[in-house]
Order: sequence, then structure tokens, then C-alpha cells
Amino acid sequence: MLRMCTAFFLAVVSSAISAFGGANLTTNNPQVIVSVTNDAGVPVAELHRAELNAETILHSAGLHVSWETRRAHEASDPSAYDNPGELFLRIIAGPIPSMGSSAFGISFLSTDGSGRYADIFYRRALQLHKDWGGSLGDTLGAVIAHEIGHLLLGSNSHAPFGIMRAHWEGEELRRLARGALLFTPEQAARMQLGLRNRNAARKIMMGELGGTPPPGQRQLPRTQPRATSVFE
Ligand SMILES: [Zn+2]
Repeated sequence: MLRMCTAFFLAVVSSAISAFGGANLTTNNPQVIVSVTNDAGVPVAELHRAELNAETILHSAGLHVSWETRRAHEASDPSAYDNPGELFLRIIAGPIPSMGSSAFGISFLSTDGSGRYADIFYRRALQLHKDWGGSLGDTLGAVIAHEIGHLLLGSNSHAPFGIMRAHWEGEELRRLARGALLFTPEQAARMQLGLRNRNAARKIMMGELGGTPPPGQRQLPRTQPRATSVFE
């Protein structure tokens, strides 16, 4: 199943968007660990700014974010414990040939709708940054947050407005410019609940609740995303 996440710059979208996000973080807010593999060679300063912006967007949805930067060989290292609360983003230069020309990324979702792997298309973010004139880091960060949204919200997670809108048009770009392209409160609540469930599963797997991880779940096949659906 394919969904398009594109930007059209001439269209002006009128919308009755209510207040977004703005959640205050507490120690009870769930943590998401995001491992980033920078295969596209994004400049370090821009990637850092992108992570900061994505983190700000996710913070507004009540999520703590911990970033890990991995090299390509580390991304395929199967030695680590499987961690349902850890997401894996790979920034690559461009989309795969079979995808639409305007896609910004692709998320891999399993049959139950959960996802942990996404590819971000750097050239698309770079082109959007050039076309609308905003910061490259902020643009890439918003794209990263959108794909993380797919991984945490599951199937059919595009929305008529906000950061999970499939097509970013005038309203979305204006919000992006002022740091107001965010998740809705309903999306934030769903992501928090989903993360709590994942983190609870991790505790069980790691033996923190008195159990031991099943042998088959000790290793993570990082090179082969467990996916049957993709979302752009
Ligand atoms: Zn999307």
C-alpha cells in the first residue's frame, strides 16, 4: 500500500486546524530510541539540526527521544537484543526506482501495523528545502518526524491536516516555517500508548520483569525489515 507524502507549493489550503500538541514532558512520558544511519552523507551540522527539530516535534507529542547514530556496518550487526522501542532510520540519497517521484520516505510496517524501519530520501528533503526556502535541517527533521509517525501510528496514519498529512501544501509549509507542523493530541496519545506497550514488551524480553528473552528474540535481523506494507 502506497501513500504519497508530497509538497505542492502553489496550492493554498484552508483548514480549521485546532490547537496541536504542546504536551509537557514528565518522567512518565515514554522514550523512543531512534538509530540513524546516514548513508546519504548528510552534513553533520544539518543532520544534528534535523534531529533537534524532529525531537522538538516529538517532544510536543509527549515523547522522549534518544538518538543513536550508526555506521552502515553497525546497522547490520545482529548481535544486539531486539528492542521493540527502538526505531531504525536510514537516510539514503533518493527513492527506490519503483516509488513515486515525490515521495520523501518509506516506512516498513508488519502485518500487525507496527513498524521499526524507515528510509528517508535526502534528495527529496533537499529539493523541498530549496523550493520553499526554509532551513534544510528543519525540513529534514519534519520529514523524519513524519516517518517516525508512520512507524508509531501504524497503518493508515495519514491525516487531513498536520504533520501526518500526506501532501504538504501551503498551510503545512507555513506551519513548518514557524515550528508548528505537529502531531495532533489524538496522534500523540496513540504514539504514547504504543510506545508504552513496546517498552513493556522490551522489559519482558530483557528479563527485567523476572523473565528471560526467548532465544529467537535475542537477535535482530536488521538487514531485512519485517514488512509487508510500505508508507511514503
Ligand atoms: Zn506519509
